[in-house]
Amino acid sequence: MAEHESLEFGKADFVLLDNVSLEEFMANLKLRFEKGRIYTYIGEVVVSVNPYRAMNIYGRDTIEQYKGRELYERPPHLFAIADAAYKAMKRRNKDTCIVISGESGAGKTEASKYIMQYIAAITNPSQRAEVERVKNMLLKSNCVLEAFGNAKTNRNDNSSRFGKYMDINFDFKGDPIGGHINNYLLEKSRVIFQQEGELQRCFKCIFQLMKGAPDAQLRSLHIQRDPTAYTYIKVGGQIKSSINDSADFKAVTDAMKVIGFTTEEIQTVYKILATILHLGNLKFGSDGDVTLIENSKLVSILGDLLSTKDENVEKALLYRTVATGRDVIDKQHTHQEASYGRDALAKAIYERLFCWIVGRINDIIEVKNYDVRVHGKNTVIGVLDIYGFEIFQNNSFEQFCINYCNEKLQQLFIQLVLKQEQEEYQREGIPWKHIDYFNNQIIVDLVEQQHKGIFAVLDEACMNVGKVTDEMFLQALNGKLVKHAHYTSRKLSPTDKNLEFDRDFRIRHYAGDVAYSVVGFIDKNKDTLFQDFKRLLYNSSNPVLKAMWPEGKLRITEVTKRPLTAATLFKNSMISLVENLASKEPYYVRCIKPNEVKSPLLFEHERCKHQVEYLGLLENVRVRRAGFANRQIYPRFLQRYKMISEFTWPNHDLPSDKEAVKRLLQSCGFEHDVAYGKTKVFIRTPRTIFSLEEQRAEM
Ligand code: ATP
Ligand code: MG
Repeated sequence: MAEHESLEFGKADFVLLDNVSLEEFMANLKLRFEKGRIYTYIGEVVVSVNPYRAMNIYGRDTIEQYKGRELYERPPHLFAIADAAYKAMKRRNKDTCIVISGESGAGKTEASKYIMQYIAAITNPSQRAEVERVKNMLLKSNCVLEAFGNAKTNRNDNSSRFGKYMDINFDFKGDPIGGHINNYLLEKSRVIFQQEGELQRCFKCIFQLMKGAPDAQLRSLHIQRDPTAYTYIKVGGQIKSSINDSADFKAVTDAMKVIGFTTEEIQTVYKILATILHLGNLKFGSDGDVTLIENSKLVSILGDLLSTKDENVEKALLYRTVATGRDVIDKQHTHQEASYGRDALAKAIYERLFCWIVGRINDIIEVKNYDVRVHGKNTVIGVLDIYGFEIFQNNSFEQFCINYCNEKLQQLFIQLVLKQEQEEYQREGIPWKHIDYFNNQIIVDLVEQQHKGIFAVLDEACMNVGKVTDEMFLQALNGKLVKHAHYTSRKLSPTDKNLEFDRDFRIRHYAGDVAYSVVGFIDKNKDTLFQDFKRLLYNSSNPVLKAMWPEGKLRITEVTKRPLTAATLFKNSMISLVENLASKEPYYVRCIKPNEVKSPLLFEHERCKHQVEYLGLLENVRVRRAGFANRQIYPRFLQRYKMISEFTWPNHDLPSDKEAVKRLLQSCGFEHDVAYGKTKVFIRTPRTIFSLEEQRAEM
């Protein structure tokens, strides 16, 4: 607890509130925000309010103030949490993770970058060249991933459209020696469609290319500088922003070079972006029964960009090879199929490009030449920065996945912070009054449960051989979920005019109600890309592109397995993410978005209150306040501190370790700050531990 901080700035830890009520919590949060104190603790959890202005609190001097200090010695800061995670990892050889949560625009990505900068700044005091190289790569990878994975949305100018979990590996000295990035479901539909609204945009890299690439490069890609010339980005293309795309183009290209992408690789990356823009402008027409490409000049541009023959491009766009028994025939697309195929191709090559970029970065940053037998265990700090909970005018499959992901993370928080903590007190027989909280497991189940959950119903619809429409999927949902407290639709609640009858369903999420339109759910879940495109790309004479599409190698008769659906893949990836986080010692940053208008001055009371409520922060304070900062089993405690009391040093003659610990703590005068459980001693405030540590050091 940073008690040295003046009270003029409010309480630095919500645990110190006089009364734990929503009103007091909000008053403190507001006061601190207005005084420019954007961070406040709940014990070891950092609550952060997006300041929407540059803060002078991330410089070298601030880093120095936090380095190696205990949490409660300095005003609340991300750096303190980063330091705590780092210390736990280094001192106790524990894998730790920092989980950053909050809705879209709340400041998660910024926080993750400051945390990484802090870790980079405090490590490698001996300036080993290899470690410096690794640190530089880790930091530079952010810049590249943001260019390709972030976009401007109606909620956030720099919104993450993918989930990112990054492990940083450390050697026995505590210096970074490598890392690994896991990326989660990219919102690839954004490539071809952005919602109405003049501030809406496609992925940042597209505009960076268009605004920042030299004339010659653009000419070779056959690209104009005018976004309105391209169908896919026209809707959101009206640029009215302060983002400096030209400078960013250079920074991203340089970052790719520094990370180690070859010139050919970088060129291919931009060729793929250009391919997508041209694909969007392809128009199909018909001549009788025959589907045609109207602007055939684009076909030869595509042939050039994809390093393949024009006729191959044309054929893949207009025909589909199908195997009927032993025969293989070319079946012509209808107009509609051809358009579907074109859009699916654009989305797929972007997604593949993104995953390939992550893969290349991983190749380069992975730990090399580390022998555990020589160097000892290599430990990890994981940093999770994922897309935040979001509600748009029109919410589709992607929002559904994103919001489900946020439900999972909230569930993890509940499990680790609220539930297990209380269960442990009960198990240990510590007097404890149960604190109630909303457990969102019921919503997680609604989405992911086998056979009954929404994903299962969706998968079942997609498995059907006949043509299943989105409306039929909605009917199936209504049938299965009619009684579920967190699910409604117009059919089940006919008076609800906000929902459309044959299109919408609504989920009561932990963070609010969201109406989802089922339009596109089936297609997006099946995520079909015609084999012909895979073969087209695999047969490119550009080796970089070819390597991105290894499955194009299969002949039509060899392709039999039905791929997993997008929902199942996402669900599996979320389950393993949560397992991974739960296996590490977690540190939390809970981000709050103070207003909808990106203002540094406005603290919208209702908005903030809503977030405080759904994040469960008040319950967090209650559990924490009644709870104990530290706990250790009796023998371990004794082993560490027995030298500070004559009753326990070198050995004790008391009937049990528990009695010995009691005696030791009595003799030091800490009796008031501890409780004795069945197997563990519980210590209320960190100060007591701190002082025990000091006494131990003085021995
Ligand atoms: P999403 O879920 O959409 O990815 P997010 O939580 O990652 O959202 P950020 O992109 O981190 O949100 O923050 C949105 C914007 O808020 C930033 O671009 C920046 O302008 C501002 N911001 C956030 N945190 C800070 C900070 N600590 N200092 C200054 N500005 C900040
Ligand atoms: Mg983000």
